[in-house]
Amino acid sequence: MNDIKKITVLEKVFPDNCSGCRLCQAICSFEHEGSFAPWLARIIVIEKDFRETTPHTCNLCEEPVCIACCPFDALSKSSENGTIILDEKNCTGCGRCVRECQYKAIVFDDERMIPLICNLCGGNPKCVDVCPRGVLSLSNKT
Ligand code: SF4
Ligand code: SF4
Repeated sequence: MNDIKKITVLEKVFPDNCSGCRLCQAICSFEHEGSFAPWLARIIVIEKDFRETTPHTCNLCEEPVCIACCPFDALSKSSENGTIILDEKNCTGCGRCVRECQYKAIVFDDERMIPLICNLCGGNPKCVDVCPRGVLSLSNKT
């Protein structure tokens, strides 16, 4: 892990500002799937008590449980920025990584049977750009 150059995470700078509009999910799915399909976004807006909402994305854990729990070595960490990379040919679609992630930050694509994990849009996160309430920001992880 020491060879990772930089770890940058999506931080919820103003989590209480989230209105639940789900624009972040819309733009994320458009960026990665070419269609507005919030269920295929790499960001999840969680609802509590039908009122409070908050976005969840990959926390870029130092010791990622998703990588450790995958029985098929399908996940690894990018040495460029620490994001989690899926090797689709190894993935069996068992969904274990989705279940084990304590941040509930991994989405499962039921059609392709693969997990979808935030890649920070290569360093230019579209969700940060579109959030009308400035909930998200890109920060260096300490
Ligand atoms: S869904 Fe794929 S990546 Fe996730 S644990 Fe199963 S084999 Fe590994
Ligand atoms: S940074 Fe990109 S991939 Fe990650 S949640 Fe935002 S839009 Fe999706």
